[in-house]
Amino acid sequence: MATVSDARHVMTLADTCLARGESLLLMTDFDGTLTPIVDDPSEAWLSDVMRGHLRSLARSPRSRVSIVSGRGLDDLRRRVRIPGVTYVGCHGLEVAGPDFTFSHPEAEGQVEVLREVARALLERAPLLDGMRVEPKRLAVAVHYRHLSAASRRQLEDELARAILQDGVRLKIFHGTKVVEVLPAAGWNKGTCALWILERTRRELGAAVRALYLGDDWTDEHAFEALAGQAITVRVGNDQRASKADYRVETIEEVQGLLATLAARVGESGLASVGIL
Ligand SMILES: [Mg+2]
Repeated sequence: MATVSDARHVMTLADTCLARGESLLLMTDFDGTLTPIVDDPSEAWLSDVMRGHLRSLARSPRSRVSIVSGRGLDDLRRRVRIPGVTYVGCHGLEVAGPDFTFSHPEAEGQVEVLREVARALLERAPLLDGMRVEPKRLAVAVHYRHLSAASRRQLEDELARAILQDGVRLKIFHGTKVVEVLPAAGWNKGTCALWILERTRRELGAAVRALYLGDDWTDEHAFEALAGQAITVRVGNDQRASKADYRVETIEEVQGLLATLAARVGESGLASVGIL
């Protein structure tokens, strides 16, 4: 059964809100939403066209942009490089806005333990063919695209033992070909997206329309938390169930959506300051 894309409908919804004079808060995942999924995550880069649309949206007084990723904050910023964007790293645990920063205090309390876990895993990595360890400041990702099932089970057992030590408050996330060790902070993309929405409402006034785009299962936290408060859009052409209200199939459709919104806030932004 073919999936149905709601791209046109989402575009009309968001565009209508802007035409009515509401402000827009775009919150979007990075990998698989703004950039194509690639075999090696270090090769995922934003296209110039996509960067241009995001830059227009970040620059307009009528819209705000927040990029919400599982990547480490520094890695994410290096890949996007747009002033005025609020960057969210490690699934919400660390945030850097244009004029504020946030780091979850419970996650900060686990920095030393995470460093120790990363060190132990990096020592093991050469022994397990196909395993790559990516230490982040507030998490450790273990990529195992080419690891055998037996080695993967062994690795998961070792991780489970590591997080059961006294005083350690870590949890394990199973993603697609990746296991992530994260602080057990009761904070995720969903709680963080709500927090950013509240901040933006305080900053811009009540008439803020939020739009959240994402393709990962971690984005489901945001779709759930934002239910009734945002236009939520799952990106992808598979049949996986989602809590998002809408679905768009491809990154090209995301790009088309951002192009329309960027054009709209560009026009109205100039009009509102008396240039048009
Ligand atoms: Mg993604």
